[in-house]
Amino acid sequence: MSVQVAAPAVELKELSGPMDKAAGPPCEPVTAHPPGHAVATAQCSLPAAEREAAPAAASSSACGSGGGGGEGPALSGCPGLSATGLPLGAAKVPQASAMKRSDPHHPQHRHRDSGDNGGGSAAEALVSPDGTVTEAPRTVKKIQFADQKQEFNKRPTKIGRRSLSRSISQSSTDSYSSAASYTDSSDDETSPRDKQQKNSKGSSDFCVKNIKQAEFGRREIEIAEQEMPALMALRKRAQGEKPLAGAKIVGCTHITAQTAVLMETLGALGAQCRWAACNIYSTLNEVAAALAESGFPVFAWKGESEDDFWWCIDRCVNVEGWQPNMILDDGGDLTHWIYKKYPNMFKKIKGIVEESVTGVHRLYQLSKAGKLCVPAMNVNDSVTKQKFDNLYCCRESILDGLKRTTDMMFGGKQVVVCGYGEVGKGCCAALKAMGSIVYVTEIDPICALQACMDGFRLVKLNEVIRQVDIVITCTGNKNVVTREHLDRMKNSCIVCNMGHSNTEIDVASLRTPELTWERVRSQVDHVIWPDGKRIVLLAEGRLLNLSCSTVPTFVLSITATTQALALIELYNAPEGRYKQDVYLLPKKMDEYVASLHLPTFDAHLTELTDEQAKYLGLNKNGPFKPNYYRY
Ligand code: NAD
Repeated sequence: MSVQVAAPAVELKELSGPMDKAAGPPCEPVTAHPPGHAVATAQCSLPAAEREAAPAAASSSACGSGGGGGEGPALSGCPGLSATGLPLGAAKVPQASAMKRSDPHHPQHRHRDSGDNGGGSAAEALVSPDGTVTEAPRTVKKIQFADQKQEFNKRPTKIGRRSLSRSISQSSTDSYSSAASYTDSSDDETSPRDKQQKNSKGSSDFCVKNIKQAEFGRREIEIAEQEMPALMALRKRAQGEKPLAGAKIVGCTHITAQTAVLMETLGALGAQCRWAACNIYSTLNEVAAALAESGFPVFAWKGESEDDFWWCIDRCVNVEGWQPNMILDDGGDLTHWIYKKYPNMFKKIKGIVEESVTGVHRLYQLSKAGKLCVPAMNVNDSVTKQKFDNLYCCRESILDGLKRTTDMMFGGKQVVVCGYGEVGKGCCAALKAMGSIVYVTEIDPICALQACMDGFRLVKLNEVIRQVDIVITCTGNKNVVTREHLDRMKNSCIVCNMGHSNTEIDVASLRTPELTWERVRSQVDHVIWPDGKRIVLLAEGRLLNLSCSTVPTFVLSITATTQALALIELYNAPEGRYKQDVYLLPKKMDEYVASLHLPTFDAHLTELTDEQAKYLGLNKNGPFKPNYYRY
């Protein structure tokens, strides 16, 4: 089956031509290797055997061929997605660059309480309405999956359920969980698992907080659609041509309005989906209800216990008469569950698409151990996602987070930003634009020089710590702000972190008897010294923006589009294109994701002339940059 999709709305005709056929035979896309591997990615012309650290054949007998399906439908209008091949000519990429988001310091350890045991209920058959459905140590030592319980609580008590704290994956703790919930009733203490609910079509193949909230959720989804132009464009292009026809996608992501737009897009492209939440707090109940109402088997609600969490995942997977053939994961918990409980499923699974730093590391660990039995796409490290997540998102959300928590005025304030990487650059640019006086600390002379060239004073933290009004960390490092620094800060100094984990500010050192903690607002603590000096600590040193503000939908649109394209690519890849390894999205696909977002701005892309293309040695359709290019 071959699917042709209309040319992109933006002038992409040249981009959407046959996939570099002239450049040579299809080749393997860029492959990233586990942190610590010195060499990067395979040149497309290299035989697979010559690729460094090529994964061993899957060790598990449960693993199937894992090589993707036969020639299937593909968005031939999309660069990188034609049935005939992915972007060719992939260049070698230095590993360090490919794994930039792999924060060497983010905590992998997670505490878990357990609940009482019991049995889970059997899932019903999938109802598909109207045919449409709906970062880690650089040296990875071992797979850090917690052992999971085999059985589920039959009827977890309310108190028990509330007391169960779960922090399985990084994504579940550092989550985009700040979206407001408008209709939640805190009075409704009944567990969704104890409720009998049906949608208007009579299906009960879902478990959400309250199906009656669907209308509110639908409005949220409609708002999100406005800021997710690329997914909406994909829907239009794939009308009548379903590149995901036959795809049975099991997903585990944050369940928000943005995810709903993604799910409904996947449905419009022909996929059947079943979905659980990757985070026990981040589900927007109204949105989950709206999805359930429109026929998506969604198993998620805000405030799940750990037992609920795994029960929901299991309900997505353990279904009579329905078996997933694609996985979309955020954090790796779903993938882990299938590996642990249903390894035979991998015989039919064509690929895994993983978004998070943590999940990607888990995949690399599996790959390194020779246990990855299907191809996987690392969405986390794609260029567009990184740029938007780190630079542009933080440029906006630093102000949002500070405003919401402190109501402060930025003009004239003295701010020190620790770290001038992508996140630091975003924070500095935003604060400078607001009239703040910005200092930067750096350890890397290149980034330090960039800071100087951008007009920031490069200082050591000690030099300015007494005078600044705000301290922001974004290094990915630990103990950047020490107790000594905290002792020397002036009264009312605001201290916050934009880095991945809560290691950057030595918050633990503030938990001493002589200091008084006063919670003044949600996520805002005053820490008071004996002489009356107080500092304002935001989100207890955890990521400010993810804890205290929202992430722009447009940023999530980039990620969601990348996920959708990765699914399409893996699902339609001819056998042998992808091995049991972790792949980075080809540059061309990144370029395509970006191009799909250009019409929002009425942006007009210049096309290379034949002469120019020849002069630069480029294909007119891209990719336009080598993989090692730093944007
Ligand atoms: P990056 O590597 O580009 O930048 C970090 C910078 O900090 C580097 O230039 C490094 O030299 C510098 N640095 C390290 N130790 C330092 C120290 N002791 N003092 C001063 N500078 C130091 O990384 P990035 O993309 O900017 O990400 C930074 C952190 O933010 C990471 O932990 C990342 O996971 C996280 N992150 C947060 C968000 C968010 O939404 N808040 C988004 C993306 C990434």
